Amino acid sequence: MEGVVVESREWFLAAYSTDGVPTSEHLKLRTVTLTLASDSIPDGHVAAETLFISVDPYIRTKLTGTPDGLNLPQYHINQVITSFSVSRVIRSKDSKYVEGDLVLVPSAPVAEYSIIPSSGILRKIDGESGISLPDYLSSLGVPGFAAWVGIELLGEPKVGSNVFISAASGAVGMVAGQLAKIKGCKVIGSTGSDEKVKLIKGEFGYDDGFNYNKESDFDAALSRYFPDGIDVYLDNVGGEMLEAVLNHVNKYARIPLCGMISQYNKVWTEREGVRNLLNMIGKEVRMEGFMLATYWHRFGDFAQDMEGYIKEGKVKSKNKINIGIESFLDSLSSLFTSSNIGKVIVQVKA
Ligand code: NAP
Repeated sequence: MEGVVVESREWFLAAYSTDGVPTSEHLKLRTVTLTLASDSIPDGHVAAETLFISVDPYIRTKLTGTPDGLNLPQYHINQVITSFSVSRVIRSKDSKYVEGDLVLVPSAPVAEYSIIPSSGILRKIDGESGISLPDYLSSLGVPGFAAWVGIELLGEPKVGSNVFISAASGAVGMVAGQLAKIKGCKVIGSTGSDEKVKLIKGEFGYDDGFNYNKESDFDAALSRYFPDGIDVYLDNVGGEMLEAVLNHVNKYARIPLCGMISQYNKVWTEREGVRNLLNMIGKEVRMEGFMLATYWHRFGDFAQDMEGYIKEGKVKSKNKINIGIESFLDSLSSLFTSSNIGKVIVQVKA
């Protein structure tokens, strides 16, 4: 392992960001010194080096100082922020883990090195499984799990169901589309560029898709793409698109509310209202928000399904890997400027 004392760079919250895309005024990088000697590590903890960090939209909602919307605990000023990571154990004070173990940590410090409670480790990763480490944060991580909960558990699609997915080329969208195809559905996605539309059709098996930036009227676009109505809408964006979808739902349609990224950078009074919720009554639509924390007990079932799909070549991922912990802030902003494609991951260590 490395020397007993290491320098570790970490991202911490300098100021809350109530609206707009967070900047270097809100998140800052600093270097701290960490002692990794055995007697500095409490029992039931491990010292770990971070290999890959997951960059997810929910992180933005933990930077506002108020838990509205996703209702997530907020990061604290001056404290290191956290995210999902793939890490390597470099010293252990828990007999279940040994040096060299690869682990998935849901709430790891966004830092090069850290000392973490072993109770905070979700699972060990088999480095010989044939699955790439970034995929454990992508199709097998937060976004893959969200896609699985949204489509498999809440969307309940049937063979031939008409499924619509927004932010279709992103981390959740790419997996959700493939899961719906496995179920035998007709799947259409919306995304922010022609290149991304090509990607969802060419790589992720979507039957069709459209570039929402080129559509001045979402209602008209959905009339063209769904002449037979929508049975399942996995909502990743909220706002105007959700409103338009409610004019096209079939009887008993399901709308799993996975996220509303178009609204995250606005204080609630500036957010868009959805005027036609009334349509849900006559069509008896079930719209349901969900958070992964409620479904952790199903993570094992999900991982088993997904590992099988990946090995059989039924689910593919596209990962955008940015190198170096210093790229974390730009990586986070890329989610809100649509400059990412696929799952955004920071590679901290080669
Ligand atoms: P992502 O799709 O990889 O990245 C975000 C994408 O959202 C961007 O690439 C952009 O793609 C789109 N976007 C950004 N601003 C937008 C706007 N104003 N209007 C429309 N689209 C916009 O992110 P992800 O990790 O897969 O997350 C997708 C959604 O799922 C988010 O809402 C996230 O919060 C949610 N989520 C929820 C859970 C849960 O437990 N409920 C778990 C994971 C993720 P375009 O090029 O298409 O614009």
